[in-house]
Amino acid sequence: MPAADRLSAGSDGTAPRAHDLLVIHARVVTPEGVRRAGVAVDGGRITALTAPDARPAAHRVLDAAGRHLLPGVIDSHVHFRTPGLTHKEDWAHGSRAAAAGGVTTVIDMPNTRPPLTDPGEAAAKAALIEGTSLVDHRFHFGVTEQTVDRLRDLTPQLATSVKVFMTGHHTAPHVIRDPATLDRIFALAAERGLRLVLHAEDDGVFTLLDAFLTPSDSYASYESRRPRTGGIVAAARVIELVRRHGTATHVVHVSSAEESDLLRAAAAAALPLTHEVTAHHLSFTATDTRRQGARLRLSPALRTAHDQDRLWAALMAGGVATIGSDHAPHTIEEKIRPVPDAPPGLPGTQELLTAVHTGMRRRHPELPADEALLRIARLASATPADLFGLAGRKGRILPGLDADFVLFDAERTWCMSAEHARSKCGWSAYEGWTFTGRPDVTVRRGQVIYDGRGAHPWFGAPDGSWLPAEAPAPGPQG
Ligand SMILES: [Zn+2]
Repeated sequence: MPAADRLSAGSDGTAPRAHDLLVIHARVVTPEGVRRAGVAVDGGRITALTAPDARPAAHRVLDAAGRHLLPGVIDSHVHFRTPGLTHKEDWAHGSRAAAAGGVTTVIDMPNTRPPLTDPGEAAAKAALIEGTSLVDHRFHFGVTEQTVDRLRDLTPQLATSVKVFMTGHHTAPHVIRDPATLDRIFALAAERGLRLVLHAEDDGVFTLLDAFLTPSDSYASYESRRPRTGGIVAAARVIELVRRHGTATHVVHVSSAEESDLLRAAAAAALPLTHEVTAHHLSFTATDTRRQGARLRLSPALRTAHDQDRLWAALMAGGVATIGSDHAPHTIEEKIRPVPDAPPGLPGTQELLTAVHTGMRRRHPELPADEALLRIARLASATPADLFGLAGRKGRILPGLDADFVLFDAERTWCMSAEHARSKCGWSAYEGWTFTGRPDVTVRRGQVIYDGRGAHPWFGAPDGSWLPAEAPAPGPQG
């Protein structure tokens, strides 16, 4: 393999049992803290954290000097577009973008063509992906107003989470507009121990505004046509539904200060309600949408610097459960359609870890890299594993768990350009950004799936697996 020169041979043959892989000289981000240690890997799992200077026999040795070893990122919010929309993205490209970003597991959204709403179709979707993905994966299930009862057939092996769109494109079949249906979904999910994953913006609010405001095709007016009101109204409805049914609920891509406050208050009142913030809401504001246009037309819209400050404050205070990318690629041709028809979304799984790390270090220059990466490991790995039934296998650097990790150079400064972008759509909203921190090597179940240290990035074999969950996870933290 091309990386052989980078993976020097260990002292194999001298000890009775050489490890498959030994990582040396790492600053290891464990659940308890960051420490200098080695990591031994056998059969795809972490078998030991060794003393910093120990050199047990190993078939392969990976020198992590100058780098942190973080648990592989679990990006619990991606749209890899299979089946039906593979002109935008496919698993070969999407999983390369993920691997290059330090991601080892993704949880894919169901709004494909057709959408994944039938438990009988999950295995077929997994079969379509098999042999093309570098990263392990799971699916969030979908639900439409016509398919609610199918959730009764959902087993934890197929999915423990159901994505509910409270708004979306006006032709989207999966938007739940009927309040009684939404109530039934919350009741059924509570009964079945399923976690709801919500796009919580109120479609009724947006429909009213569309009928009331004069049509506009400018990016400057976009945020005012998809305002925070939609998110606030939806958050209030969701809180009432969670109160009524006790349903474990995770609200994705929270964008405004008001939603952040409401959802944190509800969680503090012991409701099983968690939320996600995306890297792009932490990185860009509506000012950037006006300046950049199509690429930053997003749903929910980017808001103000004040909102962004509040999202960061909530995140640093421990009030945000997960960070996700909402990796939702579209071709440039699609993005530059007239504004009312242009699809919202950007690619982001590759940039997730680096963008959040960059933002955190810039906002908190006093924060040591160890401390920043401990927080990021909780938000990007441990808590997604807890929420989505993967904690018995993934999400932490612990003996017994899968050897999923990323060697991250926290002090490396580099400039993101289009040629780095691995998504099939071929562009990044972060082109021209100077990032702090770079994923250098990504290891999934003990196999190197990405090595970006040399002049030419190297990718491993696309043998990522569809993962069963251990059990439904009804509580907010599993
Ligand atoms: Zn999404």
